[in-house]
Amino acid sequence: MATSFKGIKFFDTTLRDGEQTPGVSLTTDEKLWIARQLDALGVHVIEAGSAITSEGERAAIRAVAGEGLNAEICSFTRTLKSDIDFALECNVDSVHLVVPVSDLHIQQKLKKDRETVLQMAVDVTEYAKGHGLIVELSGEDASRADLDYLISLYKEGISAGADRLCFCDTVGVLIPERTEIIFKKLAELGVVVSVHCHDDFGLATANSIAALKAGAQQVHVTVNGLGERAGNTSLEEMVMTLDALYGCKTKINTTNLYKTSRLVSRLTGVPIAPNKAIVGDNAFTHESGIHTHGILADTSTYEPITPEIVGRTRKIVLGKHAGKSSVKMALKEFGLEANGQQVSEITKRIKELGDKGKRVTDADLQAIAEAVLGIYREAKVKLEELTVVSGNKVTPTASVKLIMDNREIVESGTGIGPVDAAINALRKAIADTADIKLEEYRVEAITGGTDALVEVWVKLSKDEKMVTARGARADIIMASVEAVVEGINRLC
Ligand code: MN
Repeated sequence: MATSFKGIKFFDTTLRDGEQTPGVSLTTDEKLWIARQLDALGVHVIEAGSAITSEGERAAIRAVAGEGLNAEICSFTRTLKSDIDFALECNVDSVHLVVPVSDLHIQQKLKKDRETVLQMAVDVTEYAKGHGLIVELSGEDASRADLDYLISLYKEGISAGADRLCFCDTVGVLIPERTEIIFKKLAELGVVVSVHCHDDFGLATANSIAALKAGAQQVHVTVNGLGERAGNTSLEEMVMTLDALYGCKTKINTTNLYKTSRLVSRLTGVPIAPNKAIVGDNAFTHESGIHTHGILADTSTYEPITPEIVGRTRKIVLGKHAGKSSVKMALKEFGLEANGQQVSEITKRIKELGDKGKRVTDADLQAIAEAVLGIYREAKVKLEELTVVSGNKVTPTASVKLIMDNREIVESGTGIGPVDAAINALRKAIADTADIKLEEYRVEAITGGTDALVEVWVKLSKDEKMVTARGARADIIMASVEAVVEGINRLC
């Protein structure tokens, strides 16, 4: 279903609206890192921040602007000449000049009237243009503004030199039908119109598509849909919806999408929901036997796009829905061969574990398979001793004694807490043998009181290899160490 979308531009505001996510604050280096990644991805505009915010923010914007990227570098500004001056100090190419346009914002927030606000928009647009900046004149809370007033403000803005317009659905209340009607009118204004949506009702992507269909030529997005409250339109959802569902090839390098998503999640500290479209952990993961059976025959049976398109790989997870075909596939990954009867027995035991509500780890699968196949595998690494010191006046420190290939290794490590210290000590102890990375750490189940069983689930990697393992103890430190030792034994 090809439509008439042509030359759609991506205006990425991960570093401005995305950074306004509660609890997120990026350093100059982190902003630079993300900006370089966005540029490699091929976005057209990078809104690097809001120059008025602070000296630190200006240093970051200046660094991004000085990086020599292909993308246009932009700063958010209000309708104040002082904001433009600060943006100029950062050597940006453009300003996202935001004017509150709803009566609610004009009267309650600014304590002004429509005429005054319109005049401010015109004056500051002229001022910015006079200083050589590209101006994207943006209506804040436009979806709750009087459309006739908004259009007159836009027209005056264009006369004052505005290069582009932006319509902001600041509180995410647009619906696709209304979006289409509005953007058909805005498309008649004769300049590039942007759409800026928020995801308060989960409609940001749908509304942005509706706007583009009606004539908008640029879409504001953030990586992982970061942003205030429920966030903004997500970059990866927009790109893949256009590409895979509308047959519109964008300039975005889709195979970099997942890498970008992980980088932003790591640097902002905002985790991605497992069921998030395109970049969530489960987006290309299959567990049920029926689904994996289909996937084995033809991946398109249960996948709308192949994971490689967005730079990912497919994952088969075993649990109570496991079927023989998924077990066979998983065994193959570990280089294990089993006959039909053995596969049935392994599947049965995996289902039993799944029925108990357990997540079946790679270590579980290997242990079950080895038992069924009669393979005896001596653990390479054994934990002999563990000592941990922790408290409010000491640096958490741990020492471990390991037996590895009949050798005794004693090592110590410090960390931000006792678990971290213990795992650092372990990693140091095996550092000569293998470079093990802890990719994920989860405390899975804590039932009852403080003496109850704690389950720790870890994901470890060594080079390209990745395994999951579990430890279950009443002591959270011991459970963590057990999980990591188990994982190391599976990796080495
Ligand atoms: Mn916004």
